[in-house]
Amino acid sequence: MNFDRDAVEQALRTVQDPEIHKDLVTLGMVKHIAVGGDAVRLVIELTTPACPMKDKIRADVEAAVHAKAKACGTTVETIEIEFTADVRKANEKAKDQSNPLPLVKQVIAVGAGKGGVGKSTVAVNLAVGLARFGSRVGLLDADIYGPSAPTMLGLDQVGTKARGNMLLPFEVHGIKAMTIGKLVDPDKALVWRGPMAHGAFKQLATQTDWGELDYLVIDLPPGTGDVALTMSQLLPVTGAVVVCTPQRVAQDDARRAVRMFQNLGVEVLGVVENMSFFAAPDGKEYDLFGRGGAEIMAQTMGLPYLGNLPIHVDLRRNGDEGTPLRNWEVPAMARSLDGLCQQVAAQVSVATLAGRTERPTLTIS
Ligand code: ADP
Repeated sequence: MNFDRDAVEQALRTVQDPEIHKDLVTLGMVKHIAVGGDAVRLVIELTTPACPMKDKIRADVEAAVHAKAKACGTTVETIEIEFTADVRKANEKAKDQSNPLPLVKQVIAVGAGKGGVGKSTVAVNLAVGLARFGSRVGLLDADIYGPSAPTMLGLDQVGTKARGNMLLPFEVHGIKAMTIGKLVDPDKALVWRGPMAHGAFKQLATQTDWGELDYLVIDLPPGTGDVALTMSQLLPVTGAVVVCTPQRVAQDDARRAVRMFQNLGVEVLGVVENMSFFAAPDGKEYDLFGRGGAEIMAQTMGLPYLGNLPIHVDLRRNGDEGTPLRNWEVPAMARSLDGLCQQVAAQVSVATLAGRTERPTLTIS
């Protein structure tokens, strides 16, 4: 066989995406193949700019191309691979008229069994982190019982703006954000009855001018309740991230949150362990709550474990000061946050390309 374009394509058919378990050609990731002399040039489109498997894919592609060249009785000197990325749309059906957000490719919910475990911290840093990788990201703070985005994003002094009957999202820290906290008086206790929660969520989600987004991250209220139900009925949610602290008692609550998402037909993308250990300023690590508890819970429930975040004074400070990007100034924290974003993005791609994101029809009796 000649070592030509077709030969290279054949070689790429033997390279699997390590997480989706289908080959690169079948997945439509090979955008360009050029063979000239002893050089091969490829353009490979990843399913997210936050792909954690880029290096593995590169190594596998190089090995497959070299092997193919050898089988064809030749050698390749240079293999130049250009990686691009395009987040796939969760569901082609999402284009249909029942989807109120046709310009949003992926909707990711962030939930927790109870308050105070760091759900908003994870939601905010996930949104900002995905944007740092180069994605277009929105954050919808739908925690009607205790909206955190005004503080965590530093929106206290900023007023809402509208165009026609659409709210304009706040454009801060590389993301677009909208929060229930800006639509209600923060000092009034938010006692919502079901229909009010439903209406508020619907308005926030569908009457915000998000424009085109790769990811919309939704910070849900803690526990199980009306907002998650409304969300699952209204939006094509790709999946949910459940945040949990390591203690046994926290896991029991998180399990309930997992079951709620599953009952609503929302896939659980995985579990994040927050406050995993205490990272002291001198670099020492202290295991306060039983590090690894959430990972074990994820395993026993058959769910992906998405990574952990330490208790770190900077996470709290930057949360209070509305400066999330500063979390990336601490190298160890930056690694944890990037790892978390990559794992979530990877699970979103897996859920999408495994075709598991059909919106269920929910009947409530
Ligand atoms: P939830 O949304 O679950 O109620 P928050 O994200 O609002 O929780 O976090 C509650 C408080 O704990 C906030 O002040 C936040 O800054 C802080 N916090 C959360 N996670 C961490 C962490 N890993 N390290 C330090 N502080 C944290």
